[in-house]
Amino acid sequence: MKKIQMTTPLVEMDGDEMTRILWKMIKDELLLPFVDLKVEYYDLGLPKRDETGDQITIDAAQACKKYGVGVKCATITPNAQRMTEYKLHQMWKSPNGTIRSILDGTVFRAPITIPTIHPVVKNWEKPITIARHAYGDVYKSVELRAEEPGTAKLVFDGADGSHQETVIQTFKGPGVIQGMHNTDASIRSFAHACFKYATDTKQDLWFSTKDTISKTYDARFREIFDEVFQEYKARFEELGITYFYTLIDDAVARVIRSKGGFIWACKNYDGDVMSDMVSTAFGSLAMMTSVLVSPDGNYEYEAAHGTVTRHYYRYLQGEETSTNPMATIFAWSGALRQRGLKDGLSALTQFADALEAACFDTLGDGIATKDLVNLMEGVTPKSVNSAQFIAAIRERLEKSL
Ligand code: NAP
Ligand code: MG
Repeated sequence: MKKIQMTTPLVEMDGDEMTRILWKMIKDELLLPFVDLKVEYYDLGLPKRDETGDQITIDAAQACKKYGVGVKCATITPNAQRMTEYKLHQMWKSPNGTIRSILDGTVFRAPITIPTIHPVVKNWEKPITIARHAYGDVYKSVELRAEEPGTAKLVFDGADGSHQETVIQTFKGPGVIQGMHNTDASIRSFAHACFKYATDTKQDLWFSTKDTISKTYDARFREIFDEVFQEYKARFEELGITYFYTLIDDAVARVIRSKGGFIWACKNYDGDVMSDMVSTAFGSLAMMTSVLVSPDGNYEYEAAHGTVTRHYYRYLQGEETSTNPMATIFAWSGALRQRGLKDGLSALTQFADALEAACFDTLGDGIATKDLVNLMEGVTPKSVNSAQFIAAIRERLEKSL
């Protein structure tokens, strides 16, 4: 069989620990035999980040901007323990944070669903994608503790000399105070990324805030979304999809009653909390995909989970682990499909579809990694290790091609 050709390189970002092992297995078994992979390779493994003073992460993010599509393996975000384990020169920042700030992106997380794993919420029939605004609010807030009675004020001194001031609270005793912000520019980018992703994936977009209570702050989010929507309205009508705004508490109730199949755009904190709830309710972290989309249409695909350290330590002791490669495979298929769409290469998009179909066939035949075995219903699953699982996918992929 002739290998599928590519025209533009894909930005490949390698990573750490167990996912780095899976990464190589996926490439060797499921990609390289079928696709003449054209990649620009960046090793974001912790040793290389340390050696380059983290420049490699910045270079990789810039390459994503240049080529428009990247695929990333999970990476270690160093903490004190990693400093000693890897003898690091510095406690490097989270690569995902660095890439996110360079691409100015929004993160979309969606579960991979299969008929034999039923969501905890029994009426959910289709995946729910959470779009989380990844800038500002409580994540960039400042806080104070008032130790005695006194007055807390919110003050703004404009660069042109304007002045605004309002009393937050007159304290009769000790208390706590918090100041947070967001910017129109960041909210606008978030809105564009959401509307664009909705049209790309042909799904309805829901957006929720608490603008009845937060009449200036949250209201600004709603206003900007309404403004930006005007640019996408015609396209939404063409595709038969809708934009729907509601209060966060109403949204929660509706999401639970829904059949799924839409994108839920959330403010930073809501997205943090709701994405963990939604992913847990759908089954397994190992089945959660994640894509960073920038407002100018650059895409970075990855698995939502981390480097699966516990399995890696067992792997280092010579054990065959049953780590689930699904979300990492789907990061590759997502990136290859996007590359195919951007370059007009139908063979590449078809390959991405075939790869995902082979994964579903494998799980459909009851062949699964350990994490899924206990979740599956209506089949007697066979628990296999990662290598056997990938081999089973390859067998089915070869047949379908
Ligand atoms: P994790 O790697 O997601 O793993 C947490 C646990 O979830 C695992 O121990 C495993 O449970 C289960 N799990 C996750 N993915 C799995 C898979 N593919 N197959 C089977 N089980 C899976 O999170 P962590 O242990 O908190 O973090 C490890 C490292 O990853 C940290 O250094 C962190 O900085 C990094 N991290 C990176 C990213 C990223 O690059 N996007 C995201 C999160 C964390 P059992 O052990 O019970 O089997
Ligand atoms: Mg969280």
